[in-house]
Amino acid sequence: MVSKRLQNVPASGTVKIANLVSQMKADGVDIVSFSMGEPDFATPENIVESCVESVRSGFTHYTPSMGITPLRKAIAAEAVSKGIPCKASNVLVTPTKQAIFMIALAYLDPGDEVLLPDPAWVSYEAVVRLAGAEPVYINTKFDDGFVVDPADVEAAITPRTKMLIMNSPSNPTGCVQPESVLREISKICADRGVRVMSDEIYEHIIYGGKHFPMASFEGAFDNTFTVSGLSKTYAMTGWRIGWVIAPEEDIRAINKLQTHSITCCTSFVQTAAVEAMNGPQDSRCRMVAEFKRRRDLALDLINDIPGLECCKPDGAFYLFPKYEKDIKSTDLAEHLLQKGHVAVTPGRAFGPAGEGFFRISYATSESQIIEGFSRIKKSLSQL
Ligand code: GLU
Repeated sequence: MVSKRLQNVPASGTVKIANLVSQMKADGVDIVSFSMGEPDFATPENIVESCVESVRSGFTHYTPSMGITPLRKAIAAEAVSKGIPCKASNVLVTPTKQAIFMIALAYLDPGDEVLLPDPAWVSYEAVVRLAGAEPVYINTKFDDGFVVDPADVEAAITPRTKMLIMNSPSNPTGCVQPESVLREISKICADRGVRVMSDEIYEHIIYGGKHFPMASFEGAFDNTFTVSGLSKTYAMTGWRIGWVIAPEEDIRAINKLQTHSITCCTSFVQTAAVEAMNGPQDSRCRMVAEFKRRRDLALDLINDIPGLECCKPDGAFYLFPKYEKDIKSTDLAEHLLQKGHVAVTPGRAFGPAGEGFFRISYATSESQIIEGFSRIKKSLSQL
């Protein structure tokens, strides 16, 4: 019998669909996949080279648990350039999902409440529950472009509220929360003693606007855990590397968990991460420009499908269309996959407000986007 803790938590909705797609592809089914949020580009050559060189040079053993110093320095330097007042000693190197998991385990107790926007990425609710705490969703609306209303945050805080999780640009909506909203939420949380975990993994995938780290606002640093990583920015999802930036005493607490779990990130991946951050940035910029073209293409194609409506997001690589048909999003995703051979993630996986929507990850080629939407159009018309 698995633990009560685990019984409380479903398997990841995003990873579940991705696994199913892999299985169907392995069985020879031709699937267009809009499921997994991962860039289809190859990791840039300079990063790969630096990794290979590191392995060949014998850098294949444990590193300090908090990460190698050049990487912690590179992460801190980038954060400082965005206005986060930190030093290398404020950085812990760890895979981004591991960071989120460790923060939840380190700071949440049974009975605590955690605020999160609805819809939000699937694993926030899961880690909150695994830590024994309760997720409390803050509703956001399609008509408002999924922007969080700070007054709703204020109203949802109770004496049990321990933490708020933000994610801008957002997975699954692509919404980039306005600076004023992030600033206000940050202040409300600091004033009310609610810690902020700001997942900024899509910080560089932003079209036109600017990214505002929550820890950069006045007085916010001591109250904020900033989580980010290289997966999305440099097409490095398989390398499993990211970080937490926080006050030193928090880094020490989270590091306790790191020492009892993964010990450290893969040594030669850390070398490659230094190259990713300090080396040329042209490939990163090219990828973002390409994502923008794909967003525009995908939006045009959605607008051509009767019964679908979609906000125009300013970041990440997701679209979150609303559909008219009276069918649950899990059943719709099942229909699209089995009948149309196109994989999407059901909106309900992202929280109650996701019902009636599905998520498209457009981090795939233009030809796959065109083919995928033609399949969606046909399959919807058969419902
Ligand atoms: N974050 C990506 C997604 O939402 C990767 C899978 C996951 O970690 O959930 O598709």
